Amino acid sequence: MLIMGAPGAGKGTQATALAEAYSVPAISTGDIFRANIRNATELGVKVKAIIEAGEYVPDDVTEAIVADRLAEEDCASGFLLDGFPRTMHQVHFLDRHLSRQRRRLNAVVSLMVEPDVLVARLLDRAQKEGRTDDNEDTIRRRMEVYAGQTAPLLFHYERQGLLVEIEGTGTVEEVRQRMLEAVAARKA
Ligand code: ADP
Repeated sequence: MLIMGAPGAGKGTQATALAEAYSVPAISTGDIFRANIRNATELGVKVKAIIEAGEYVPDDVTEAIVADRLAEEDCASGFLLDGFPRTMHQVHFLDRHLSRQRRRLNAVVSLMVEPDVLVARLLDRAQKEGRTDDNEDTIRRRMEVYAGQTAPLLFHYERQGLLVEIEGTGTVEEVRQRMLEAVAARKA
């Protein structure tokens, strides 16, 4: 499965719940990058400035990380990707990668939240969590990049009949229930 949504849509939070419900690992490319930045690895050093500017990490770098992660044993009977794919190149990469292994996606969850709510949530998170990419300029840039590069990918998954659109406004618990019901209905 995949979970998609604009910055602030609640992907990370709901990804954890969805992954737990289906007993698969939730894999967040953003978390992987942040852990590498924290530990000042070679990868972390390479991506720090890019992420702080609100831009996307190059496709080849991100795709290699995802391929490695999907090869781990805990992904053998399924996985949930949070924050990947984000570009058309990554979509094609994932399609090819899975079909080579005779695997396929079962559902693509899209969390839909209005732009005003997104900005308010991110500014609130900035105060609480101190993520260095949660400042006003970077937030604006991340929204633009999402709208330009990632939102169009939803059409691709809609055409494949995989898209499950979820209204992402309300409490965490409300969204969680709405999402789990919709995914279960789709899979049935
Ligand atoms: P958000 O959805 O709030 O922007 P994420 O944790 O998913 O947060 O991503 C944080 C940042 O990590 C992105 O703004 C981007 O710079 C980088 N990133 C994460 N996933 C990808 C990806 N698939 N391709 C390119 N860059 C990525």
